[in-house]
Amino acid sequence: MARYIESVCKICRREGMKLFFKADRCYTDKCAFDRRSYAPGQHGQARGKVSEYALQLREKQKVKRVYGLLESQFKGTFKAADRAKGVTGDNLVSLLERRLDNVVHRLGFAGCRSEARMLVTHGHFRVNGRKVDIPSYRIKANDIIEVAPNKKTNPRLAENLKAVERRGVPEWLNLDKDNMKATVGRLPRREDTTLPMHEQLIVELYSK
Ligand code: SF4
Repeated sequence: MARYIESVCKICRREGMKLFFKADRCYTDKCAFDRRSYAPGQHGQARGKVSEYALQLREKQKVKRVYGLLESQFKGTFKAADRAKGVTGDNLVSLLERRLDNVVHRLGFAGCRSEARMLVTHGHFRVNGRKVDIPSYRIKANDIIEVAPNKKTNPRLAENLKAVERRGVPEWLNLDKDNMKATVGRLPRREDTTLPMHEQLIVELYSK
């Protein structure tokens, strides 16, 4: 499967904000954005007029990369959001948050979404008692997500869970840290995401 192979820190610098792609490193003074908070490249520090289209495109690229999706996957998610009842932008955020890899990350089992995706594809999680190794699997309200019994001793999971206090678990998820298990209390809403996002720009871009 195709994937983004450039330095992810460049994305933070391009977008002008910390997007936390690198787990613990993002919280240290090694963070590339903290060191050089301007866009990468020769003209990174130049200020130019930004067109409306460029703003919309940048916003879409940012959200797509934060959730680790390819263009076709992101467009597919947008179409599903557009078909669903309600506000398209809100639906888009909710659908992105409901991805299993995102939920694993939000629960604190993984330090970042790329690690969460790797853990899911390696069969570390069960949803309602069944093994699910598809990162895009869409969780539903009342689903039970748990670490597979033979993976509970993975030291990386325990290490990641220690950082949960710092990051916090969203309101819509109930984590039982001791048993490495969680329930989905309700579906995520727009206001549940912590990512600064202007989803209306994405809606405008795809509506052209
Ligand atoms: Fe972004 Fe800093 Fe983390 Fe790199 S270390 S991904 S620049 S937040």
